Amino acid sequence: MPTVSRTVLVVGGGIAGLSAAYGLAESAASRDSPTQCTLVEAAPRLGGKILTEQVGGFVIEGGPDSFLSQKPWGVELCRRLGLADRVIGTNPDRRKTYVYSKGRLEELPEGLALGVPTRLGPFLGSGLLSWKGKLRLGAELLIPRRRERGDESLSSFFRRRLGDEALERIIEPLMTGIYAGDADSLSIQATFPRFPEMERQAGSIVRALLGSWRRQGQISRGQISNLSPSSFVTLQGGLSEMVQALTARLGHLRVLTGHRGRAVRASGAPGGYEVVIEGTEPLAVDALIVATPAYDAALLLESLDGKLAALLRGIPYASTATISLGFRRQDFSHRLDGYGFVVPRIEGRALLAVTWTSSKWSHRAPDDAVLLRAYVGGAGREAVLEQSDGGLVSLVRAELRAVMGVTEVPVLARVYRWPRAMPQYLVGHLERLAAIDERLARWPGLFLTGAGYRGVGIPDCIRDGLDTAECVRAYFDKGASRAV
Ligand SMILES: Cc1cc2nc3c(=O)[nH]c(=O)nc-3n(C[C@H](O)[C@H](O)[C@H](O)COP(=O)(O)OP(=O)(O)OC[C@H]3O[C@@H](n4cnc5c(N)ncnc54)[C@H](O)[C@@H]3O)c2cc1C
Repeated sequence: MPTVSRTVLVVGGGIAGLSAAYGLAESAASRDSPTQCTLVEAAPRLGGKILTEQVGGFVIEGGPDSFLSQKPWGVELCRRLGLADRVIGTNPDRRKTYVYSKGRLEELPEGLALGVPTRLGPFLGSGLLSWKGKLRLGAELLIPRRRERGDESLSSFFRRRLGDEALERIIEPLMTGIYAGDADSLSIQATFPRFPEMERQAGSIVRALLGSWRRQGQISRGQISNLSPSSFVTLQGGLSEMVQALTARLGHLRVLTGHRGRAVRASGAPGGYEVVIEGTEPLAVDALIVATPAYDAALLLESLDGKLAALLRGIPYASTATISLGFRRQDFSHRLDGYGFVVPRIEGRALLAVTWTSSKWSHRAPDDAVLLRAYVGGAGREAVLEQSDGGLVSLVRAELRAVMGVTEVPVLARVYRWPRAMPQYLVGHLERLAAIDERLARWPGLFLTGAGYRGVGIPDCIRDGLDTAECVRAYFDKGASRAV
């Protein structure tokens, strides 16, 4: 039998592309199969949205600051990378989260699953909703299931089931913060499919969730022994530790940073592709994984398949920025007794949310300092990003003064801009994905992965990248290969 050599190119070195490349490197090593894999990344560094900076004893996350432990793929990858000891949960003694409501910070009642109560006691005692709002939410138990099938917006689903107040005051800021999106246009099926599923199965999402709190605690505690029962976890030195560990495990893979994939052509061989890459020779490969944002995938694939590119361009992205401010602890008057606060859109403030980073996590600020991180922008609220960095810092300081009474001068300020960073899964997103898959069926050996498609969170991107590597492996196993 001749030795079979397979070549793969991964375009995009964010967490999805790195996970795909890692999956390919691992399976090549375990099978001793000579897959030649190259990864090209347009930016000078790997990691995409994951960006940690260490400045003067502060650990600052420019993009994501943590990931959900209930979705196991992030924690599991850390374990595989030998990082289990580096994974940390949120500080268990400061577990409060606040919601800015009518001029003050109200504590979010304990036991909410993304805004829906799993325990009644703390919820009934909360000042966040009026009695009318609480009664309307309780009436959810009596509201019949929706008859029509098909997608609906997040706001339509929760308004129908839980009422206006619960949607606007709790659910909207918690859920749409994850997507930096607009509840009127985000798809419930593509963002939080568990809730319509609960409606279908139990007839009520409140009934389905009541009593589940204890079970959830056990699940998250069981995953890694040094964690508190925390939903969100990170790494001691920041999320870039994961990027570094992944990069170190890529083995013989060729990694080219600072090189943008420009265009893809079908090469002569069936299922083969030739990829034009800025600053280097075109590369002919047997399989191609495109792990870029969908709009960059559209540019890359335009000359190969205009219809596929049009479908990809139809996934919109919202722009955001994070602004981290460090203060001397001795000057700081606010007690920071929690993880931070979210701001409902109806409050009309510039802030989406503020994390009290040094209270939420250990190892984020020197002992004599505190660190806060503000989140601004998002779908329909992007005008704020036209301001200069200095303007954004002044704006956030004014907001912190109004909401928390912070008047102190920061000793550190960092602004990270994320243009077209958060994919918006609009109503109909799943149908769009089906149409994309239909086009892809015409292009054997071409695969798409990344936040634009099947989940924006880090664990989803990891799962999708690893699954894509498996698909490439299965594709090769079916016999698409070149003998050398
Ligand atoms: C401010 C912010 C906060 C967030 N917070 C969280 C959080 O706390 N928890 C969480 O789980 N998720 C969070 N997310 C979401 C999560 O970080 C992202 O969805 C995820 O990191 C995206 O990974 P990716 O690999 O799909 O894409 P990216 O990270 O965007 O990587 C794609 C890469 O492709 C490269 N590229 C593009 N075009 C080309 C080309 N033609 N040729 C070569 N390379 C190309 C880009 O330079 C980029 O590096 C946050 C996102 C942002 C922006």
